[in-house]
Amino acid sequence: MPVMTTEAVEEQPQTRVNLLGLTLAQMEGFFLDIGEKKFRAQQVLKWIHHSGVTDIGEMTNLGVALREKLLGIAEVRPPEIVSQQDSIDGTRKWVIRVDGGGMVEAVLIPEAKRATLCVSSQVGCSLDCSFCSTGKQGFQRDLTAAEIIGQVWLAIKSYDAFQAGNGRIVSNVVMMGMGEPLLNFDNVVSAMDLMLEDLAYGLSKRRVTLSTSGVVPALDKLAKVSEVSLAVSLHAPNDALRNQLVPINRKYPIKVLLESCRNYIAAQRDKKRVVTVEYTLIAGVNDQVEHARELAELLSDFPCKINLIPFNTFDQSDYKRPSGNAVSRFWQVLVDAGYIVTVRTTRGDDINAACGQLVGQVVDRTRRSERHRKAADSQIIHVG
Ligand code: SAH
Ligand code: SF4
Repeated sequence: MPVMTTEAVEEQPQTRVNLLGLTLAQMEGFFLDIGEKKFRAQQVLKWIHHSGVTDIGEMTNLGVALREKLLGIAEVRPPEIVSQQDSIDGTRKWVIRVDGGGMVEAVLIPEAKRATLCVSSQVGCSLDCSFCSTGKQGFQRDLTAAEIIGQVWLAIKSYDAFQAGNGRIVSNVVMMGMGEPLLNFDNVVSAMDLMLEDLAYGLSKRRVTLSTSGVVPALDKLAKVSEVSLAVSLHAPNDALRNQLVPINRKYPIKVLLESCRNYIAAQRDKKRVVTVEYTLIAGVNDQVEHARELAELLSDFPCKINLIPFNTFDQSDYKRPSGNAVSRFWQVLVDAGYIVTVRTTRGDDINAACGQLVGQVVDRTRRSERHRKAADSQIIHVG
């Protein structure tokens, strides 16, 4: 048997449980597992998500002995901010480094009566949509639940808004940053659970939105466990065009996707809800009047509102942003057909803060993505 030196013992990685990402149920399980009372979970959740406290030593209602015990086995560790930039229009963007060196971003977009935080779910993305800079980076890894909810935590902290009781400086969350949230199912569901949890951020389920490019088996599964709002990245009115823009369409075509969205809505207790259909307008590709007419026809009995997103240019893409006139023409066709249609205004342009536009140089790692996509797909089908 090899003799273990002191050095070798010290080199063992200390894996402390990061309490930041635990839902109430998971936190209760944690305390029961270590022989403590379940109600401790509520106290710790409030310290972390209401008061913004990361130092277990400061959690004064836990008692000295319990705090010492926790310090040995647990931690509250938000991801690390690499940079924070403020736009002249009030938009704030963070570049965040996660364990292993990957970078993600989060963006807070304040408006008159709300402030929407755009949150990332993966480092990179395997789905390789042709117009997306995140897709061009390929997939690196899933974010943990702590890294996802940590973006909400960091945003509030950066405004010093925990102590001020201003946690609601973030009124809405959209899972529209880097990554495909449904390919990181469990961690995203846990993080969204914390967004809705009264002992954490207490957001209404209407104010938390998951955006997906259409991972149908995972969406069917989500309908059973979540009531957050749903946005679907359609971007094309027919399969031939969508196959080019959103490759996962070849696996789950439009009809199947819309049916899954419809089931998601039908499963909600609140019967007034609709799906937000996202449509990125790319000049000369999917922004013509005939595309708008086809889209109006396609969605004619689908419970939705439509969000048009003029394409955000980035270096590695030859696509162009449509003119204001082209956007208006497209919008008008849909409005005339009776749809509620919004156009996403560009915010934080000066700091490159558009959702999905990311960090520094983009390296094309799409071959690596191909492997991940296959693995992730097969996992979901087996789980689902
Ligand atoms: N993976 C998820 C969520 C992240 S992307 C999804 O695809 O839905 C968030 C939204 O930004 C999606 O609707 C996506 O299609 C859109 N998007 C990505 N790159 C864009 C770009 N360069 N210009 C405009 N919208 C873009
Ligand atoms: Fe991934 Fe969404 Fe970008 Fe497509 S648009 S590559 S699914 S992040």
